[in-house]
Amino acid sequence: MRLLIVEDEVRMAALLRRGFVEEGYAVDIANNGTDAVWLATEATFDTLILDVMLPGVDGFEVCRVLREKGCRAPVLMLTARDAVEDRVRGLDAGADDYLTKPFSFAELSARVRALLRRGASARPTVREVGDLRLDPAAHRATRADAELSLSPKEMALLELFMRHPDEVITRTQILDHVWDFAYDGMSNVVDQYVSYLRRKIDKPFGRDDLQTVRGVGYRLRTSER
Ligand code: CA
Repeated sequence: MRLLIVEDEVRMAALLRRGFVEEGYAVDIANNGTDAVWLATEATFDTLILDVMLPGVDGFEVCRVLREKGCRAPVLMLTARDAVEDRVRGLDAGADDYLTKPFSFAELSARVRALLRRGASARPTVREVGDLRLDPAAHRATRADAELSLSPKEMALLELFMRHPDEVITRTQILDHVWDFAYDGMSNVVDQYVSYLRRKIDKPFGRDDLQTVRGVGYRLRTSER
């Protein structure tokens, strides 16, 4: 899951980023409206967290422009004042939800999860593919009722595969959704993480469901057992 946080206050942006990265999200930050519009049209984000109070182009305008450009990612607005007028303006500009500052990270995180569920074809709270089960809110994954010990990145990768069972997912798609622009490490990071994941979800169970599709990417097969 990839988030874009649009916030000019550097400390606040860094705090939010750290919180979401710990939960396994890929997070990009834009410090102003212009960068936000550029980033959001350049890459695919699963949710945008948009501060209303930005220098220059404000959050309302960013949201309006993005909707005009066809960006359909859920948008959660952060408003400084609990004014009805602000909430109405935000929703009119195309936002899906709003949260008034100050807020708790736990609430923001819960609302992002709610937006992600609501987005693209009503996502279920708990995802199941064969005997694999993943509960993003609880950071829990099991296979055949056995607990899987996954890092946040492995969890995010598994969630991506479980959202698209039996579909081929390319390395680029995986990089786009699980890593962020700040990532400039090894180009084989995807292959490496897929192999970590296999060691945890397949090998101990004598399975071979996370398949390599040569020259294209990977596929999580729904096995009949
Ligand atoms: Ca701000």
